[in-house]
Amino acid sequence: MENVELIKDGKRLDSRLPEQLRDVQMKVGVVSRADGSAEVRFGNTVALASVHGPRVLYPRFLQEAETGILRARYSMAPFSVSDRKSPGPDRRSVELSKVIRLAIEPTIFLEDFPKVTIDLFVEIIQADGSTRVTGINAASLALASAGVPMRDLVTACSIGKIDNTLIVDLTGNEDNNSEADVAFAMLPNKKKITLLQMDGVLTKEELMKLLQLAKESCEKIYELQKNALRENYKTGE
Ligand code: ADP
Repeated sequence: MENVELIKDGKRLDSRLPEQLRDVQMKVGVVSRADGSAEVRFGNTVALASVHGPRVLYPRFLQEAETGILRARYSMAPFSVSDRKSPGPDRRSVELSKVIRLAIEPTIFLEDFPKVTIDLFVEIIQADGSTRVTGINAASLALASAGVPMRDLVTACSIGKIDNTLIVDLTGNEDNNSEADVAFAMLPNKKKITLLQMDGVLTKEELMKLLQLAKESCEKIYELQKNALRENYKTGE
């Protein structure tokens, strides 16, 4: 691992405090052909989510008689990273598509939509760390704006550990050089965790502290999500 000093005098390379999010921007209703859509930016990470449905699933043999299904696709644009990424699916995007589906599924009343599909596309336009959680935040807004019946929004954040310090909302550089990093998603009102993935090693005490910080960070992000939805109703799009 490269020896980079990522925290100096209590601040990160971009002058953030350990618990500080990057500049966050959220906009709902950005894809005119979609039933619901949203763009979410955390610093230089930009995710676009687009929802199509609920609609009856064809071909018919794919239908589930008792429930609807959510199909999710995560994809990173070739121009989203500094070295061009080869287009098309790879192992990572297959994993992240599944992770996003599992993080989102518990909030949707799928049981009320037999034989139906909801199609969710998460496109990473720019990648600078934390793309899966940025994608989940965008996906949840896109679903809400599509009018999909949901128990709650889904709110997600990344937390890592560098130099014995827990940091929130990792950049790509921080992600590559962290001792541990966690992707976390929850239903903020139901207080239910729907995603918990970790790379690296933490003690039990560190993990408990990290989870508390993740919840607090998600509460902040949840407020921004609600504002983005309200903003969309204001403009009537
Ligand atoms: P996440 O983006 O959810 O944190 P990873 O830990 O897999 O997921 O990726 C961390 C970061 O590494 C990404 O956000 C991106 O900045 C960078 N990255 C991932 N895949 C590639 C790639 N194929 N080429 C260049 N950078 C990449």
